[in-house]
Amino acid sequence: MDIELSEDMKIMLDTIKRFVQRELEPISRQVEEEDKIPEEIVQKMRELGLFGLAIPQEYGGLGLSLFEECLIYEELSKTNACFRARIATNNGIGSQGIIIDGTEEQRRKYLPKLASGEWTACFALTEPEAGSDAANIKTRAELQGDHWVLNGKKHFITNGDIADMATVFAVTDPQKRARGGITAFIVEKNFPGYRVGTIEKKMGHRGSHTAELIFDNCIVPKENVIGGIRMVGQGFKTAMKVLDRGRIAIGASAVGAAQKLLELSVDYAKQRVQFGRPIANFQAIQFMLADMATQIYAARQILYHAARLRDKMGTSVTKEASMVKLFCTEMVSRVADMALQIHGGMGYMKDYPIERFYRDVRLMRIYEGTSEIQRLVIARELLKD
Ligand SMILES: Cc1cc2nc3c(=O)[nH]c(=O)nc-3n(C[C@H](O)[C@H](O)[C@H](O)COP(=O)(O)OP(=O)(O)OC[C@H]3O[C@@H](n4cnc5c(N)ncnc54)[C@H](O)[C@@H]3O)c2cc1C
Repeated sequence: MDIELSEDMKIMLDTIKRFVQRELEPISRQVEEEDKIPEEIVQKMRELGLFGLAIPQEYGGLGLSLFEECLIYEELSKTNACFRARIATNNGIGSQGIIIDGTEEQRRKYLPKLASGEWTACFALTEPEAGSDAANIKTRAELQGDHWVLNGKKHFITNGDIADMATVFAVTDPQKRARGGITAFIVEKNFPGYRVGTIEKKMGHRGSHTAELIFDNCIVPKENVIGGIRMVGQGFKTAMKVLDRGRIAIGASAVGAAQKLLELSVDYAKQRVQFGRPIANFQAIQFMLADMATQIYAARQILYHAARLRDKMGTSVTKEASMVKLFCTEMVSRVADMALQIHGGMGYMKDYPIERFYRDVRLMRIYEGTSEIQRLVIARELLKD
């Protein structure tokens, strides 16, 4: 695929590559053990503009296209997944509702704080009884005078514990639900009745936290409905538009992680000697490397194609976004498995990053819509009139 990048973008990519190699990778193990990204690293991420990659320049961001953002995510995903997770909610699911459907006033009020990384955003859709079946959310919002009152509980919310604001989806008309009865709100952490609940202990993604958010008669001003009064009841559509975009971005992380796993595997296969020769000499190992490279190549092509299509066409790339999420995330799981096999017992040990990648990439097939849900979306698009 013909890729033409601006000079600025080339410099940016080069800077990120060096940042990953010199600053992030050396502390990856420490972050894994402490389950925390050091504040000075977060500050460097702010200085590099990483929190505002996808936020338009007029609101303080870098205003990258989705394609350019994907290139950055590829690089950033060659190290511990928590670093990308730290910035992903500001660029993606936490801010895109405001970018796509927000009022001008909301954009001016919130986006500069998110672009600079001064504030962290999160996206609160999932609930204990509504995961894949997101339209079944129970969190309720009722209008009382000049404010809305929210009651309910969200769980598994990335960056929920550190977020200064959340895009929260709540039912405003139980009869209509996804068809005009769900509304998206901007809820600040200081609004009365907002609180962080349990922080989950997870299989991977250490350094990135996943939390419960509780709304107990939480008071949200009327003007914090995303898009204003005309958008009351339209929140489910906003959520779906945000997720379409996010699914392509996750594809980029899958491709970046897979590329790193391939590079680690090639290096290891060349230096690990068994039966008197490097294991790279064995055809069984070569075939795994060849399969990994081929699958990454295919995944990267659909990723770039869909990202550019979204840049050109706007929000109507639902089928392609789901295809990218499905294909790239299933691909990286297979690649991680082969990488671990090539590394043998060493791949299973914490001394090598393979086992961490193996655990971290597993999440990609679950969040922002499981593989099964992506297949349902693709099939629905194929079968509709
Ligand atoms: C680490 C982490 C971070 C997350 N971050 C966020 C976040 O920031 N914000 C947020 O809102 N959510 C977040 N989530 C939630 C995530 O999006 C959900 O976990 C996901 O959508 C699946 O929902 P569930 O876990 O309830 O699984 P379920 O919906 O209960 O699914 C269980 C299984 O059933 C399958 N299944 C369900 N329905 C169907 C069907 N109709 N046909 C076929 N198979 C089906 C699923 O594919 C899955 O295999 C996060 C989750 C995790 C684990």
